[in-house]
Amino acid sequence: MPELPEVETVRAGLSPVMEGQLIQRAEVNRPDLRWPFPDRMADRLTGATVRGLRRRSKYILADLDSDETLLIHLGMSGRMLISGHTVGKFHHPHPAPAKHDHVVFHMGQGARITFNDARRFGAMDLMPTAEADAHWLMRDLGPEPLSNQFNETYLVGRLKGRNTPIKSALLDQRIVAGLGNIYVCEVLHRAGIHPARKAGRISAARIAGLVPLVRKVLQEAIAAGGSSLRDYRQADGELGYFQHGFAVYDREGAPCTRDGCPGVIDRIVQSGRSSFFCPGCQR
Ligand SMILES: [Zn+2]
Repeated sequence: MPELPEVETVRAGLSPVMEGQLIQRAEVNRPDLRWPFPDRMADRLTGATVRGLRRRSKYILADLDSDETLLIHLGMSGRMLISGHTVGKFHHPHPAPAKHDHVVFHMGQGARITFNDARRFGAMDLMPTAEADAHWLMRDLGPEPLSNQFNETYLVGRLKGRNTPIKSALLDQRIVAGLGNIYVCEVLHRAGIHPARKAGRISAARIAGLVPLVRKVLQEAIAAGGSSLRDYRQADGELGYFQHGFAVYDREGAPCTRDGCPGVIDRIVQSGRSSFFCPGCQR
């Protein structure tokens, strides 16, 4: 499932083919994905120019000159493919239409953007730009982890007295937006905090120390995504998936990467999701 850095990589990859560009024709090939598409979506997108592309949590937001904003959610398996335009060193010819090509944007400059989603957990919606923050998917979100609103004082205050495991607290989108399972596992490993520790029982100094680690882990992954836009892995025109080394995620049974730690990565299930951690150095 794409997390914040993957979504940010998709946004960056779409930027040259969308920002400032006309959607000459939008093609919508089914009535819904996870939820029904908005009324007359193809008509409302056709002829609009994209003013800018931004990201909120794991949503890509395209602000249009029609004063509407298009929300794109990749879901579990949504893929964005660009053809007819150079991505990094590669120029991708238009592929033949494929199964699961649910939405296609034919851009004014000849590029084609295809949203393909085999499992259909993705979504698109349209809303007045002025009301985007109040959209039901976004209104309850906490601050962006890379913004100034997410800071030491804020996080210490939000976690004070909480009886939930620190892992669940960091996954709570009302506390901080866009953090997912993979990067929370990585952050807690770097912080040396056990994922099952009660958030309210961890010292304020250690909670404060999570803030720069969250930023660092996300920024490193975003940088890896940025370099993937320039290299061979994007040779098919697909955006957003890149090779990235994790210290604990999906490494059950492997040795801990921390210098001098003899631990072996373990896995527990919390709220139905796997937590990977090192019992040797995470307390
Ligand atoms: Zn360790």
